[in-house]
Amino acid sequence: MKVPLLDLSAQYSALAGPLNEAITRVVESQRFILGPEVDGFEKAVREHLAADHAIGCASGTDALILSLRALDIEPGDEVITSPFTFFASAGAIHNVGARPVFADIDPTTFNLDPTDVADRVTDRTRVLLPVHLFGQMAPMHGFRALADEHGVALLEDGAQAIGARQRLPNGREITAGTLGDACGFSFFPSKNLGGFGDGGMVVTNSKDVADRLYRLRVHGGRQMYHHEEVGYNSRLDALQAAVLSVKLPYLESWSEARRLNARFYDACLADIEGIVTPRIAAENTSIFNQYTIRVRGGRRDERCEGLRDRGVGSAVYYPVPLHLQDCFGYLGYAKGDFPVAERAADEVLSLPVYPELTEDQMSFVGDSIREVLGR
Ligand SMILES: *Cc1c(COP(=O)(O)O)cnc(C)c1O
Repeated sequence: MKVPLLDLSAQYSALAGPLNEAITRVVESQRFILGPEVDGFEKAVREHLAADHAIGCASGTDALILSLRALDIEPGDEVITSPFTFFASAGAIHNVGARPVFADIDPTTFNLDPTDVADRVTDRTRVLLPVHLFGQMAPMHGFRALADEHGVALLEDGAQAIGARQRLPNGREITAGTLGDACGFSFFPSKNLGGFGDGGMVVTNSKDVADRLYRLRVHGGRQMYHHEEVGYNSRLDALQAAVLSVKLPYLESWSEARRLNARFYDACLADIEGIVTPRIAAENTSIFNQYTIRVRGGRRDERCEGLRDRGVGSAVYYPVPLHLQDCFGYLGYAKGDFPVAERAADEVLSLPVYPELTEDQMSFVGDSIREVLGR
């Protein structure tokens, strides 16, 4: 048996008819840039997430860059984010000329810890940028309160968490992307809602932020050849919008299938010594973009080699925390600065959790973990 970390062809075969039809429709219309396909998908996302504005752009990375610009970030400003995330969360901060400032994560959820963030706010802090890692939302009540207390903006990196939910202390349930001032989503093929290439979107409830985004994605001028500011060429492709419009109605059922798969693994792996299964906070409904365990006892990479030999796909997200990346040497961080993130980087292992997995495949993964990593 072979179980890849991710198998996108299973999803494609199930929807090949409508997907190919949507692509043909765009090709026949020859409307490739913005236009009705993008408008239609933006409207569908607005309704799906109950958000006021949704602005398509070229990638999840650009969604963060455009959002930071729309929030008036300027060179020298500080933006606080997680050192344990995909590179783009911090790369975007650097690329708008701001300074990434890291804070440590919560050891149970791997998400940025608001208490540690609070200690790192300075008078140059302009934005807090929590990441909803692996499909589970960061504690938004804490971040909203902290942002309001300091009068700074709150930008969510929702690239891995479209459709994730969280119950606030007052009982209200929110969706990823709706409590921050803006949220960046990614439609990279491996995300829960993935296109046939790159794509991204910013969701916001602020009309001012939305207006800025509509012009930033087209070189900074809503009227062609009239530029109020210097923007970007960063539009969501009409072809991608058409593909994503076909897929969006299935997002919730795919994420539910991932939750069921996660529960199956939780049971399979529960009694294996040295393996810690993912912990989802009581207030959260995760979309399990990743099912990420901890492998305790050291030497994870060597010890995991046997999984590949057995045909079980797995990956380490992420092996090097961002404060230790060469490109961020100028920030002056050193090993030991974020011990929780560093330990996570040494221990994590993500397993196949895509919706189409069968129970046989998951049992095989569980048995393989037991054989290879159990003590
Ligand atoms: C995927 C991802 C991004 C970037 O999205 P792209 O569409 O690949 O540019 C940003 N942040 C996180 C946490 C991601 O997982």
